[in-house]
This record gives sequence, structure tokens and C-alpha cells, in this order.
Amino acid sequence: MRSSVRRRPCGRFGSGPSFALAAAGLLTLAGLACRPSQGQTGVHKENAMLEIHPLLAGRDFALGNTGARQMANFVYLVAERTSGLCVLVDPAWDIEGLLERVDMEKLTLVGVVATHCHWDHVGGRFGGMQVEGVGKLVQLKKVPVWVNALDAERVKANTGVGDESLRRVKDGDVLELGGAKLTFVHTPGHTPGSQCLRVGEAVITGDTLFVGECGRVDLPGSDPEAMFASLGKLAALPEATVVYPGHHYGKTERSTIGEQKRTSPALKPQSLDEWQAWLAAP
Ligand SMILES: [Zn+2]
Repeated sequence: MRSSVRRRPCGRFGSGPSFALAAAGLLTLAGLACRPSQGQTGVHKENAMLEIHPLLAGRDFALGNTGARQMANFVYLVAERTSGLCVLVDPAWDIEGLLERVDMEKLTLVGVVATHCHWDHVGGRFGGMQVEGVGKLVQLKKVPVWVNALDAERVKANTGVGDESLRRVKDGDVLELGGAKLTFVHTPGHTPGSQCLRVGEAVITGDTLFVGECGRVDLPGSDPEAMFASLGKLAALPEATVVYPGHHYGKTERSTIGEQKRTSPALKPQSLDEWQAWLAAP
């Protein structure tokens, strides 16, 4: 399944060099302080009160962490300014750095959203190394972790987070953040419980949709047919919807649904047969 074409750990095609490094225990895991927001990281204002702060691992936090930089995970700080409340989406790699960022922005963290159960998004053990994530976060801050019910057990197993911290959600459930309503969109395929988060007119897509490609469908729990349906669900969103992916794999850090429909090969197949043919292509 095109596994030799490209090498990205969470992208559709095969494992990357960082996996080999991780297996060999060669990654530097010490997280360093968070970098101020000026410069590369644009804060996206959905409206006067709702903000999305993209934070790239190894650049905006977890500085000096080779593994974090190679994996290129995005963590998103979603803030509602009227109330001063925020949530972190997929906090991992450097929890103290991320919490420092929350403090710098003078926000109050009220919870965590997990797009799915993988170690680079919620923390966990991989190939002999331990990546910190929501397990450490809930020890430092007593906040709930919203996860799709179908990935909840794997989040527990990967992170040690207990039932008392987990909030199991399903498609269409709403997270109220001050005066804003964030909506969970179940997008299985990469994992059974993969989910996206609608934030105003934007969507945080985890490992379902990246800029220019989609998440892997050859991992334990992956389901290629479900991924096809999930991508169709995202493609049906308004074309102006801003896409915030779970990794920085594309030419740009974010895109729109319209742009991805025009340019991404992952959104080109119009039938299950076309999709399967594309997946099987060399
Ligand atoms: Zn993943």
C-alpha cells in the first residue's frame, strides 16, 4: 500500500526515520520552555472572542527535542477571550512548556481534547521511549480529557489516565467553552475513534486530513473504508473552512477545505473503488 513511496510516521505512507530513532532510544526527550507567540505562529481569530493558537512541536514548544521536531505535531490552544477559558488539543511532548504558554496568554485551562489515541498526540510509550502527554497534564491540572468513546480505552492504556478524567464523546457532541460551542466530528479511519473539532468556521483535523494528504490507514485499528467516508464528511464542509492539521506535513501550515478539494490527491477519489485504487497505486 504505497508504503515505499513516502516516509511519514503518521501520514498515509509508512514509518519515518524518527520511528527508527525512537526504537533505538536516541530521541532527546527533555522539553524546553515555550517560545513566545511573535513571529512564525499566527493566532487565528475565528471572531472577536474565539482564537486558535497553532503550536508546532520542536519550534514553538519542546525546543531542542529532536523527536518532537521530526514528528512535527501541532498542538492547538483554543481560547475564548471573553471568559478567558481555553482548551489544549493533543497536548504532548512538553506539558510544562504548553502550560507555560497558557499562563503567558493569561488564560485558564479547562480541559483537553484528544483527536485520537496515538502516543505522539496524547503521550505514551513508543519503541522504548516515553513521550509525555495528557497523563502528566491531568496530574498537574485537574481537567477533563474529551476523547471519542471508541478511542477511550486506548488513551487509558497509552497514558494511564483514568476514567475519572475521561469524558467520552460521540459525533455531534458539543463542548461549551465560555460563550463558544465547539463541536466534535467523528472521523474514523486512522483509528476507530479519530475525531475532528469544529471551532467556529475552522476545523482541527488531527490525523484524518493533513495539508496535501491524509492520515495512515495501515495501522492497528485503521479502516480504509471508514477513512474514505470521513474524508467525504470533511469535504462536505463549506469550502472556506480553515483546516488545522495534526502534523505539519504540507507546503503550508494550514489550508481550507476548498483548497484541499482542488489540490489534495486524498480528496480526489469520488468512489470507494477509486479510493481503493489510489491507496493500492505504487
Ligand atoms: Zn495518529
